[in-house]
Amino acid sequence: MNESTRLPINLVVLGAPGAGKGTQAVQFARRHGILRISTGDILRDAVQAKTALGQRAKVIIDAGALVDDQLMIAIVRERLTRSDVVRGFVIDGFPRTVAQATSLDEIMVGRGELFVIEITVPDETLVERVARRRVCEQCGNVASVAAGVERRCAKCGGELVLRSDDTESIVRERLRVYAKETRTAAISEVSEH
Ligand code: AMP
Repeated sequence: MNESTRLPINLVVLGAPGAGKGTQAVQFARRHGILRISTGDILRDAVQAKTALGQRAKVIIDAGALVDDQLMIAIVRERLTRSDVVRGFVIDGFPRTVAQATSLDEIMVGRGELFVIEITVPDETLVERVARRRVCEQCGNVASVAAGVERRCAKCGGELVLRSDDTESIVRERLRVYAKETRTAAISEVSEH
């Protein structure tokens, strides 16, 4: 099929922290030449840039809680109206609540099919996996380190750091929030459509 007539691919990747939704989203987007959107990355960029949004989000992220729906919906709505998503997109980290799922349905009206996949991994595996997860300060590459030994990114040599919300107690809180707000509520909402 001609590239210009190809239908857009719109995909949502859901999953608990550490499930690999970011990794899969990046690979999928690359393979299909479409844009990857991560609401977590958008918020972390705002934290880094110390914007008003970033300062507000940091406290919430570091508590393992969710940023309010209105704000997240506004961010995603704005992002999905830009011209670079016409060929489709893969989004991870959104929706996380029923209100976000409902809004995404509204945003998608007249824009083709929206596919949703959920990656499921047992909680104890996630806790172990996130303990080994490090992010490159320089290029954002995500790496798994054996017993915290590696300190440098294999791709660019930048320093590998632990995300401030990847400590065990916060991860357990994020898993609890995912089970309550996303898994039992938002996923059933999305799949009814
Ligand atoms: P993530 O990188 O997807 O694990 O997101 C990191 C953190 O950003 C989450 O634990 C939330 O605090 C916040 N966050 C990201 N996406 C959303 C969203 N759709 N709704 C509310 N909070 C979000």
